[in-house]
Amino acid sequence: MSFTLALVGRPNVGKSTLFNRLVGRKLALVDDQPGVTRDLREGEGRLGDLRFTVIDTAGLEEATDDSLQGRMRRLTERAVDMADVCLFMIDARAGVLPADEVFADILRKRSAHVILAANKGEGAAADSGVLEAYSLGLGDPLRLSAEHGEGMGELLEMLAPIA
Ligand code: GDP
Ligand code: MG
Repeated sequence: MSFTLALVGRPNVGKSTLFNRLVGRKLALVDDQPGVTRDLREGEGRLGDLRFTVIDTAGLEEATDDSLQGRMRRLTERAVDMADVCLFMIDARAGVLPADEVFADILRKRSAHVILAANKGEGAAADSGVLEAYSLGLGDPLRLSAEHGEGMGELLEMLAPIA
């Protein structure tokens, strides 16, 4: 049995970085500049013995403040509906921002199976953001560093029962 994992969350939390790590190829563009990745991107993910489909949500980077919420909602809902499980990512260095709360609401209303991840979790600069993540009410955050490959064993443990 395989499953589909959707990576969701506001721009710049590290979704494409994690997508690239899971897929093992540079299928998703990662950039510090906004406007680089678009819409939904699908790849074959691997983690330990697991093989699964992974969806990267993008396409929000160019949105203006006015259109951001609507586009964010539509894209995220599409990804959630395609997925068996959503990895909802926040940036632990930035802490919980209002945009993160919007995503948390979308996921709650969709009653999706959600794993909350506090990414950019390497180092002490992430400590307070990881604690803030508990306030989202989506369970214990998984501390990750997509860039440095930290927390991948714990992610595997959480995904294994779904497979
Ligand atoms: P996305 O917009 O959510 O897809 O985010 P990206 O994957 O494009 O990453 C946005 C920025 O965060 C890039 O500069 C990444 O290199 C950086 N980034 C991603 N993961 C990590 C991480 O674990 N730690 C740190 N420090 N930076 C990260
Ligand atoms: Mg991206």
